[in-house]
Amino acid sequence: MTRFAFLILTIAAVLGARDASALNVFACEPEWGSLAHELGGDAVSVDVGTTALQDVHVIEAKPSLIAKVRKADVVVCTGADLEIGWLPQLIKQAGNPKVASGPGYFLASDQITTLEKPSKLDRSEGDIHPQGNPHFQLDPYRVLAIAQALDARLAQLDPAHAATYQQRLADFSTRWEAAIKRWEAKAAPLKGRKVVVHHISWVYLLKWLGLEQIGALEPKPGVPPTSAHLASLIELTKAAPAFAILRAAYQDSKPGDWLSEQTGVPAVTLPFTVGGDEQAKDLFGLYDSTIDKLLAVAK
Ligand SMILES: [Zn+2]
Repeated sequence: MTRFAFLILTIAAVLGARDASALNVFACEPEWGSLAHELGGDAVSVDVGTTALQDVHVIEAKPSLIAKVRKADVVVCTGADLEIGWLPQLIKQAGNPKVASGPGYFLASDQITTLEKPSKLDRSEGDIHPQGNPHFQLDPYRVLAIAQALDARLAQLDPAHAATYQQRLADFSTRWEAAIKRWEAKAAPLKGRKVVVHHISWVYLLKWLGLEQIGALEPKPGVPPTSAHLASLIELTKAAPAFAILRAAYQDSKPGDWLSEQTGVPAVTLPFTVGGDEQAKDLFGLYDSTIDKLLAVAK
């Protein structure tokens, strides 16, 4: 180890020690890490398991993640089976009873209703989301409901800071509700416009803002686009017409770019979660960036 690396580790240890009394939160996705920060401030220490550039449907249960879950007081995840391929494995390997069940196991999906819940489960139909669509971080009303539930959970786990959580929730709610009004006014010109999507990542956003999804590059959720499917999408995209082809920061840009070249409809990369672009530094920036990027191509 170099002296510099040692120095960094020492500083990290000292800074870490200062947080000894903080509630350790493990967030599966950046949006919930950001929300935990909003609600907990200095009362919480947050580890985020994934980044905006990763596909959270498929994450490897690496030792570094297991170590984070091992020291967590609470795991905060999307749920609705989004993390079915890795979260149960992380919890099992971590052997930390605090987060295996009970109050230390918080799923955002338990606090809200999901859209697109299939009435009949058939995995051959590409139902990779049998509990409904889990990509609800872009519905600000659901985020607010989740914030209220998460805040109550943090206070339950850490009663010494109950007043802090209560005050911070009130502050967050005020700012969030004001932002919703601002976003809705700003995005009003998008109402009724049509989009093509890569994965079914935008259902909540589109419903909220009154946009319409006319097609998806993935013929079935989780199934990569085939050239035959892409060919049929060309006509659909032109005829609608769609004003944008949407993809998340982590998704392969090639299929969308190809469709864009064939149709002249711009492909737009949206952050999808916190950290997905420069502007999406927190939940507020995530929504600001998403709406700005849609408006930029909606002219
Ligand atoms: Zn999905």
